[in-house]
This record gives sequence, structure tokens and C-alpha cells, in this order.
Amino acid sequence: MRYHVTVLGSEGVRVVMESALTARDRVGVQDFVLLENYTSEAAFIDNLRKRFKENLIYTYIGSVLVSVNPYKELDIYSRQNMERYRGVSFYEISPHIFAVSDNAYRSMRTERRDQCILISGESGAGKTEASKKILQYYAVTCPASERVQMVKDRLLQSNPVLEAFGNAKTLRNDNSSRFGKYMDVQFDFKGAPVGGHILNYLLEKSRVVHQNHGERNFHIFYQLIEGGEDDLLRRLGLERNPQQYQYLVKVSEREDDQRGCVCLTVTPPPQGNCPKVSSINDRNDWKVVRKALSIIGFSEEEVEELLNIIASVLHLGNIQFEEEDSGSTAVTTKAQIKYLGRLVSPLNLEQAASARDALSKAVYGRTFTWLVNKINASLAYKDEVYPTSRSAAVIGLLDIYGFEVFQHNSFEQFCINYCNEKLQQLFIELTLKSEQEEYESEGITWEPVQYFNNKIICDLVEEKFKGIISILDEECLRPGDASDITFLEKLEDTVGGHPHFVTHKLADGRVRKVLGRDEFRLLHYAGEVNYSVNGFLDKNNDLLFRNLKEVMCQSENRILTQCFEREELTDKKRPETTATQFKNSLTKLMEILISKEPSYIRCIKPNDAKQSGSRFDEVLIRHQVKYLGLMENLRVRRAGFAYRRRYEAFLQRYKPLCPETWPNWPGQLADGVSTLVNHLGYKPEEFKLGRSKIFIRFPKTLFATEDALEG
Ligand code: ATP
Ligand code: MG
Repeated sequence: MRYHVTVLGSEGVRVVMESALTARDRVGVQDFVLLENYTSEAAFIDNLRKRFKENLIYTYIGSVLVSVNPYKELDIYSRQNMERYRGVSFYEISPHIFAVSDNAYRSMRTERRDQCILISGESGAGKTEASKKILQYYAVTCPASERVQMVKDRLLQSNPVLEAFGNAKTLRNDNSSRFGKYMDVQFDFKGAPVGGHILNYLLEKSRVVHQNHGERNFHIFYQLIEGGEDDLLRRLGLERNPQQYQYLVKVSEREDDQRGCVCLTVTPPPQGNCPKVSSINDRNDWKVVRKALSIIGFSEEEVEELLNIIASVLHLGNIQFEEEDSGSTAVTTKAQIKYLGRLVSPLNLEQAASARDALSKAVYGRTFTWLVNKINASLAYKDEVYPTSRSAAVIGLLDIYGFEVFQHNSFEQFCINYCNEKLQQLFIELTLKSEQEEYESEGITWEPVQYFNNKIICDLVEEKFKGIISILDEECLRPGDASDITFLEKLEDTVGGHPHFVTHKLADGRVRKVLGRDEFRLLHYAGEVNYSVNGFLDKNNDLLFRNLKEVMCQSENRILTQCFEREELTDKKRPETTATQFKNSLTKLMEILISKEPSYIRCIKPNDAKQSGSRFDEVLIRHQVKYLGLMENLRVRRAGFAYRRRYEAFLQRYKPLCPETWPNWPGQLADGVSTLVNHLGYKPEEFKLGRSKIFIRFPKTLFATEDALEG
């Protein structure tokens, strides 16, 4: 049997026709469902490696795209290549992110159904790059008018702006997104992009006040200092030297200290923090960001006010305190920012520094949200002819943090991993369950595939009154001696017996040595994670002193007055905690996603060294294959029928292959399909006929039919 294998070499694109066997030996199979030994993880990884060596970074599991980060520019994203994927059926051409983009676009157009593309993977695996490739694909291939061109430009330019303010260099990725992002691209009836909307999740605000060794603050700080014009820096009172600013040099002593509120002075600034990164050109990026801001529609005044805030955060970070004889605290720095003086007297040294950092985080975090809102206003779909109408359909892109397991895991990892549990739930809901339901509704016998339903873990985290978040909120509300440890004790009392929850205490009173006394372990769908409760209460409360809020409300900076509204001061209601806000925003996200038809992109990084070439670290990859649930995904795909098509579509496409169905089949569709596949020699085990669709067990059956059509 022969089928198409497309080899995308770095030198360009060439299509090679080879026998299935030789091609498989050399470049692996382009769909994991074609693996003979599909339950073997070793065979799975071997296939990935073969392809990766040949620069074939994309492979399917059915309709799921697995992507391995090449860490180098491949010549596969050209306009010419985009054209190749336009309107071409998914399985007729080699796996590519453009195929997924095009497929979603065509489903949206033909079925008038909203789509979403869910991109997951760990830090540095290539999620953000993937989402940018998809956006570029639509920008190039969708129809355009002058107005549409403006929307396309703004959609594309929102990336450098959000990356400047929301991305940073971390140990894992020089351009790591420190927030989750969901972006709707709205299309009109002609299929042209006419608007967009962004939802952002859980910005890592703690990065503003400190970074781990070898990491940086958000890019914008360095871009401004390196690239800002002399005049601008003078107006902002900034010096062109990042080392001058505590928030850019302060490094946590312990890798795991994420609170950033304990060290006050750092003299001399510890080395190892890295204002300069070889892969980043802050000065150039500054120009890109400035241009992007104006394309999106920021006025010069707004940009100046925005940068003023960024500069103020740096100034804030440089404010130092010292303890007075009376035990109260005074500002020792020549205070550029007078208002801080008002806060310090009743606080001790540590509290004063922590209040200062809380203010910096609040200011930065709210400014980031303001920025997203501002971009949304500029992307908002406005139909001049029918002002009240909505766009015809949308394609949503989700670029959100993957499952995280570090040496030390805290509140942030707890939230991130909870988010991944929810996404896994959605995956089960949308793919596995609907797949089985479809077989049932089509009247096809189906042997149920056993898979782990992680709802039990989602409930453990989010259930009302007895879930971990509820218990955390309860401790945050409780006056008196509530602490991280009392929170842990309460967890033990409430969910101690849960099969997915473990602490150091064993049921018989003995101690489990592998867990610290400040830790709990969750048995996630993807594996075990130990969380330290240190800082949980503070991070969940995320409180800001009232008088600091008051001062912010009085600011002359118009962005700040929008970020800190007066109503907040009079509002008696306690603000929602961080975890509850996150939970609610995830619930909304799930509602958005579940109403759409999903496509999945699973990103994998080949090594931890950000290295291109052949470095394919098996241990690291095995972990990712596990966390992404790829083996289970494949098992479910292969357990059933890999492909299905409605009778009309199947007959329409393949009827030329059979004299009895060509040019028209006069009878029932099902009989026509049956006649056709009999003529083609399909064996009984290769397919089943349902109520409205044909189900094909192996993709190779379909490939052979496709070949016959061409040949
Ligand atoms: P994070 O969760 O930290 O935000 P991420 O999954 O979004 O990580 P990216 O920022 O998309 O990771 O990718 C990290 C880096 O890997 C990119 O800056 C780029 O250098 C490289 N990279 C990723 N995908 C590709 C690709 N398709 N082609 C070339 N290089 C890539
Ligand atoms: Mg990213």
C-alpha cells in the first residue's frame, strides 16, 4: 500500500511518495494511531524522536496535534506554505499547525459553529509561539478589506504589548508568559476577522518585587530603561542602569521564596540577576512595543501615563525603611513618592516593606488588567451597518500554563495545576465522553475504554464548603490566630480521608517522612505534587492597606484612577480572595469553551537547555507525555474508530471510485456507502456503518481510498 508522506526539510518543502514501510522506518508515522504497538510509551517516544531528528516537529493523535519545540527557525511557516494548507483536508497533507488552524476555520465557516483551539504544555514548550502562528495564519489567509486589515494589525500587535508587560525571562523560558490568556478572534459572515477579545488569568504579580536567581522582572522594565529616549527617562526620573533598581536586582536567597517581602536592603546587589539576556534585545523590543501601542490606538498621553506607572513601581522598590527608637518605621530614602510616608508609622520594618511591595504588586497587576481592557476596547467588533449584531462566529485560542511540578510548589502551582485539572475535565467531557456517546447514538457497539475521570480531584479543590479553596477562604476570613498551619490542620480534618489528598500524618497517628509538616500532597491526574502551605493565606488574601488604596484613588494619573476606583473604598463587601476569583474565572472559561468545538495542540519541549539540534531528553519527554495524558489519548483514539464521516460527505467525495455510485446514487445514503466500500474491498473489521455516519477504524484505510481517488 502507498500513501503520501510529506517531508518538510529545513531547506524547504517537498512532497515525497514512499512506501509506507520505508517512510515509517525513517521518519516515523505522522499519526500515532498508525503505530503498531500503540500502547507502548517507548514506541510513542521513539516515533517522536525519529520525526524530531528530521525536523518533523508535528505529529497527530487523530485530530490532536503534538508539537515538539525545535528551538530554531524552521522554514515551514512561509506564506507559500500557508497557501498549501488552505482548504485542504486534514489527512491529505502532512501534520502542521496550519492544518489545525485551517480545519477550525473551515468548520466554523461551514458548520457555523464557534471553535476553540486549546494549547497546552509546560513552560518553554512553545504554546505562545503556536498561538502566534495560528493568528498569523488567519491574518494572511482570511479575506481582508481596509477595516479588516486594521483589525488584523491590532490582533497581531496585541502580542508584543502583552508580552512586554506579562512575559519575563525565567530559568525555563527566556520569554515566559506569566499569565494565562484566552483570545477570541471574531469573524464576520464572509469569514474575515472583524474583532477580538482577550481574557487574562492570574498574572504572576510577585515577580514585580522579586525574581529567582537567573530570572528577570517583566520585560517592559528593561525595555524602558534600555530603549527609552533620554527625554522620556528624564521626565520619569529614571537612570539608564537596571542595577539602580532594587526590583530589578533583588534576588530571593532561597529559590523557593516567592513572597518577596522579607529582605529589605541588598548591598551590594547580588550578582547573577540578569538584566542582559543574549536572546533578548530590549532596545529593539522597546521600538516594537512603542509602535504596537500606537497601532492599537494608544494616545501619546496614555503611553506616557502608562510608563509613568512603570517608573513609579521602580521608584517604589527603592524606598528603604529603618527602625526608629520608638519601634516605628520611617522612610530613609529621599522619598520621590511622598505618599508612602503616610503608611509607615504603625508598622514594623518587615510590615512596612511588605506593604510597599503589596502596593507595587497591586499597581502593576491592575495596570496590566487595564492594559488588557484597553486592547479589548480597540479590538471590539463594531458593525457600522448593524451596530447591535454580533460577529458570525469566533475561534478562541487558549494559551495557558501547563501542569507544574517543581522542587518547591506553592499557592501559584496549586492554582495552575487546578486549572489543568479543569482543562482535563473539559477534555474528558468534550472528547472522551462525546466520542462514546456518539457511538451509542449511532447504534454502534462500543467496548467502553477505561479512563480516569478526574472530576473527583476537581471537586476536592473547588467543592463548596468542603473543598480546599473553601477551607482556605474560611481561614482567610477567620479573625485571630489563623495561619498557614491552622489551614493545613483544617484540611486534614476536612479532607484528610480523601483518596487524592495526603499529609505527613498517617491514619494510625504515625508520621509519613516524605512529607514536611507544612506540606500536603495532591494526587493529580498527571501525577503527585507536594505543596507547601507557606504563604497560602497571604497570597489568597492579597490585601492592600486601605490608606494606600485611598492615596491611589487620589492620583492624578488617569490610568491609576481607573484602576483604583473610589467605590472600592466605600464598598463594605470583602473583596473576593485570589483563589475564589480564579475559580470563578475558570468556571466562566469552561462555559465559554464547552460551547465551542475544540481542537487540541499539545506542546512538548525536547530539552531543558533551550537547545536546538538533536538534544532529545527522554526523561523530560516521558514526563511531558505523561502530564499531557497523550498515551491515554492515543488509547482512546485507537480503541474506537479513528475516523468518521457523514454518509453524504463520504459518498460525495468517493463516489467516482465506484460505477454504481457514480455519478449519483439513487437510493438510501447508507446503502450507497455500503455499495461503495464493498466495491473498494473494505474488510468488515475496517469499518462500521452507523445511523448517519461511516466509522473507519484505521486511518490507513482512508489513506488508501484517498490514493485511489488521486491515482
Ligand atoms: P511559557 O509557559 O513559559 O509561556 P511557552 O510554552 O509559551 O512557555 P514559548 O514562549 O512559545 O513557550 O516558546 C519558547 C521559545 O521556544 C520561543 O521563544 C522560541 O525561541 C522557541 N520556539 C517555540 N516554538 C517554536 C517554533 N515552532 N519554532 C521555532 N522556535 C520555537
Ligand atoms: Mg507562553
